[in-house]
Amino acid sequence: MRTQVAIIGAGPSGLLLGQLLSKHGIANIVLEQRSADYVLSRIRAGVIEQGAAELLDEAGVGNRMHRDGLTHDGIEISLGGQRHRIDFQALVGKSVIVYGQTEITRDLMDGRLAAGGQTLYETADVSLHQIEHGRASVRYRSGGVEQEIECDFVAGCDGFHGVSRKSIPEHVLKFYERVYPFGWLGILVDQPPVSAELIYASHERGFALCSMRSRTRSRLYLQCRLDDHIEDWPDGRFYEELRRRLDDNAASALGRGASIEKSIAPLRSFVAEPMRYGNLFLAGDAAHIVPPTGAKGLNLAASDVYYLWQALMEYYREQSTAGLDAYSARALQRVWKAERFSWWMTSILHCFPESSGFDQKMQRAELEYLLSSRAAMTALAENYVGLPYK
Ligand SMILES: Cc1cc2nc3c(=O)[nH]c(=O)nc-3n(C[C@H](O)[C@H](O)[C@H](O)COP(=O)(O)OP(=O)(O)OC[C@H]3O[C@@H](n4cnc5c(N)ncnc54)[C@H](O)[C@@H]3O)c2cc1C
Repeated sequence: MRTQVAIIGAGPSGLLLGQLLSKHGIANIVLEQRSADYVLSRIRAGVIEQGAAELLDEAGVGNRMHRDGLTHDGIEISLGGQRHRIDFQALVGKSVIVYGQTEITRDLMDGRLAAGGQTLYETADVSLHQIEHGRASVRYRSGGVEQEIECDFVAGCDGFHGVSRKSIPEHVLKFYERVYPFGWLGILVDQPPVSAELIYASHERGFALCSMRSRTRSRLYLQCRLDDHIEDWPDGRFYEELRRRLDDNAASALGRGASIEKSIAPLRSFVAEPMRYGNLFLAGDAAHIVPPTGAKGLNLAASDVYYLWQALMEYYREQSTAGLDAYSARALQRVWKAERFSWWMTSILHCFPESSGFDQKMQRAELEYLLSSRAAMTALAENYVGLPYK
């Protein structure tokens, strides 16, 4: 087989890149190690920046998001039992859309099917060859038979555990990492959200987040220990602990519905530089991870895809490699700003087991300053709705 761009991974970054390239006549094949149903069963992000929403529109898959997604003009921060609203519209004139990653993935899969795009699911042992220069190739096994795709470029959109980043010689990459000493225990439940907007709760027992996926589906999180196990957290214990960390109004509005999904996610900040090696370009979680506190992971995947799509269009339309040569530096500029914001949101809202009395006072002062200063709230709002792509 032969294509122009081989895309590894059918998560949001791979499918979005494929859709944008196909729309502009650039041939591509997506290879995914899992089945389509498995990819659709992963419960993850839910907050979409305006820039990412516009990119989904550009890819022709934004209709359902605009119909079923919830426009949020702000968030609430709960401190000492009091809720404080950060009004995005008043501060920066922008909003975010609450719409599940699962739904985005479904829209992208449907769009790809309608456009006749080729996605190869359940491809095993994907390996990359001759990515340094010249014509690259991707080998994989399907139904026990080895196959090969020749291509001009490989887009590594295969997430943190994928094969793409690992195909780059170690001495070429530099890694930057912070692993946080806690995780998030999350449940998905079919019950209305406790409040119209997301509540980020800072509490001495640990952070909590009341998020949602729709008007009837809530996504609730508790800061937990890294050695916690899901079995130790039956729904009753989860709700009891969440109530303790919320203000009275939110606690009394909280239902007790049975969870339909429960998971523990460790929190990590990670960046691999550069995001290019020869004809291989990394995008999304393959190159960087943020803790979910700032709701940035999926949105960063979208901005990487934007830069890569633009660069590939420039290459095929104008035979110019300028965009491809600038891709890593351009994408990383925005990546680091989102890393900073996600790290900062995590730092001010969570309980750190090793923090001293001084650290705790600093954290409290930071939160009180934030909630009393229009300038500080504007900085939060500007980052939360998403920094511009250009
Ligand atoms: C609990 C939680 C909450 C989150 N909340 C938010 C949020 O509110 N907002 C936000 O923006 N982000 C959020 N995120 C992050 C977001 O989900 C990710 O950043 C996003 O999924 C990245 O997309 P991706 O396509 O780059 O990678 P992935 O979604 O990981 O997709 C990679 C794909 O590649 C496939 N793959 C892997 N290896 C191979 C291989 N060897 N061969 C072929 N295919 C392979 C995988 O199966 C997968 O389908 C959250 C994450 C978590 C865990």
